[in-house]
Amino acid sequence: MCDVVGVGANSLDRVYRLPVYPEPSGPASKLRIEHADRSAGGQTATVLAGCAALGLRTAYVGTFSDGEDGAFVRAALRARGVNTTHALLRQGPNPYAVILIAAAAPGAASGERIVLWDRPSSMRLAPEDVPADLVASARLVFVDDVDIDAAIAAANAARPRGVPVVTDIEQPGGRVDALIAAATVPVFAEHVPQALTGESNPERALRALRRRHEGMLCVTLGARGAALLDGDEFLSQPAFPVRAVDTTGAGDVFRAAFIFALLRGDDSSSMLRFACAAAAVSCTRPGAIASVPALDEIQQLLLPR
Ligand code: ADP
Repeated sequence: MCDVVGVGANSLDRVYRLPVYPEPSGPASKLRIEHADRSAGGQTATVLAGCAALGLRTAYVGTFSDGEDGAFVRAALRARGVNTTHALLRQGPNPYAVILIAAAAPGAASGERIVLWDRPSSMRLAPEDVPADLVASARLVFVDDVDIDAAIAAANAARPRGVPVVTDIEQPGGRVDALIAAATVPVFAEHVPQALTGESNPERALRALRRRHEGMLCVTLGARGAALLDGDEFLSQPAFPVRAVDTTGAGDVFRAAFIFALLRGDDSSSMLRFACAAAAVSCTRPGAIASVPALDEIQQLLLPR
């Protein structure tokens, strides 16, 4: 049996380190790439790698290209212990991202990045591609909102059978309301609660979302940490102070650690703290899947100082 089945995206990340962020004119319109690298990522793939690094048994449902890039990401997941035998191989380019990381971005927190991505339609995961039995047999299901209809199908296969569903919600449009309704715990990206409610304050935005969902509601807030609404109780957790070199995958590692703590039975405030500590560790090194932390690294950061 699997602890966590993940249904969603993977990505071949092409990472370019630049001295500053590019601008359309002036000296930053032409920049030397200081370092170029290829690494494995994508929302669900990174969440599962994060869960596996914490000792959970995981399986990935998604699409890979049958070419070299797909094989690279699949091998990275397998090396982390994620079962990829339920993934689908398709012809065409693998979903990919170009990630720009500036060493010294004026006014920006260190390690922040710009992500440009593309995903051919041949890689779309359809609701009928979701193995309902596998999903229903997990202890918990994770979905992202890249192929939202497949995500909703997976959530609807899981929840009626008592399997909790944690989601990543990064896009406020489309069928987002249906995905929120289908999830046990939606974990929103920073800009989404405001886009959905018009409230810029995280607490007011989560309280406004309470009308659409009665369970826990969580939002990650980048270098400001994360917040959670549990029943009527609003909890916020500042980010752990670390030397961030690359925040790619931080949100996915947050969700992985959140899942681990949820399955362990932690209370909501401990879950939030644990997830922020895990995400902070991942910011101290490059890459998404390459940066997922081990349990002892998270525990070190949680020690009283
Ligand atoms: P995403 O990777 O989806 O954009 P965020 O940027 O919100 O997600 O980051 C996810 C989590 O990572 C945050 O909730 C926070 O706990 C942690 N985090 C992000 N940036 C930093 C940072 N500079 N220092 C420490 N922790 C960070």
